Amino acid sequence: MAKIIDGKKIASEMLSEVFMEVKALKEKGIEPCLAVIIVGDDPASKVYVKNKKADCGLVGIRSLEFSLPADTTQKELVDLVKKLNNDRSVHGILCQSPIPKHLDEKEVINTISPEKDVDAFHPVNVGHIMIGDGAFLPCTPTGVMEMLRHEGISAEGKRCVVIGRSNIVGKPMSLLLLAQNGTVTICHSKTKNLPEITRDADILVCAAGVRNLVTADMVKEGAVVIDVSMNRNDEGKLCGDVDFAEVEKVAGYITPVPGGVGPMTRAILMKNTLTAVKNLTKQN
Ligand code: NAD
Repeated sequence: MAKIIDGKKIASEMLSEVFMEVKALKEKGIEPCLAVIIVGDDPASKVYVKNKKADCGLVGIRSLEFSLPADTTQKELVDLVKKLNNDRSVHGILCQSPIPKHLDEKEVINTISPEKDVDAFHPVNVGHIMIGDGAFLPCTPTGVMEMLRHEGISAEGKRCVVIGRSNIVGKPMSLLLLAQNGTVTICHSKTKNLPEITRDADILVCAAGVRNLVTADMVKEGAVVIDVSMNRNDEGKLCGDVDFAEVEKVAGYITPVPGGVGPMTRAILMKNTLTAVKNLTKQN
């Protein structure tokens, strides 16, 4: 039976450390502040933003929420980002994805000042992640790496398979595993013979967003299985890509959904907000 990696517990330890750092900054007269923009009424986005605000509250970071109507224009959104860029009391800025289809998300991300880009989505920060010298860490992949570190698992020399090649999860995940000297294979929707590839993995990261994509016969005995995805089952309950009940019997380590990667992603966002404070106060 696999050991379950408790993301909730690890994240809560990380949040305690962030709390102490925020306290120290406040004693120096600096109040870290994260601005979150949400456009429209997407229910999942509303939950994510609510959770981010709750995390800010827990660690003592001031949170600003800008809730814009679905018919917001591109100019209004970009102008808000520019205003926040210029506001010295704001350290981190993020725009909750997805935004309504009539808006150009790329332009919005490119407008966020790279120094305040706590999601690390700006091309400058993506470039730094590629080179491996970034200040900001991509939240979800870094959350995964933290879970591995916590369990004493290194990717060095291991066969790592990442399912998914998105800009926010799959690609940066692969880069972080590579940076730790893993031998990385990226799989995606056009990959042929997925089970053949996954069966080779010592570390398998699943981020396809496809429920029950990863079954027990696709997992090597003793492998580390990290389930990033957040899907809904027929009862509307949160689930990942992995058939947890069956894979748990084969894997060496496994992450649950919920309570796995999700809380880790949120904890890294809080850490990134502190990084933004440190970078910006250094410059001033
Ligand atoms: P995405 O839709 O942008 O990318 C999905 C990727 O999976 C694509 O690259 C696609 O090629 C690949 N894929 C799809 N079907 C596949 C298949 N049958 N076989 C192999 N590959 C397949 O999604 P994303 O933004 O990368 O997110 C992936 C999942 O992770 C989603 O469920 C999302 O909700 C979740 N997510 C979780 C967190 C977290 O904090 N836990 C953070 C971000 C995203």
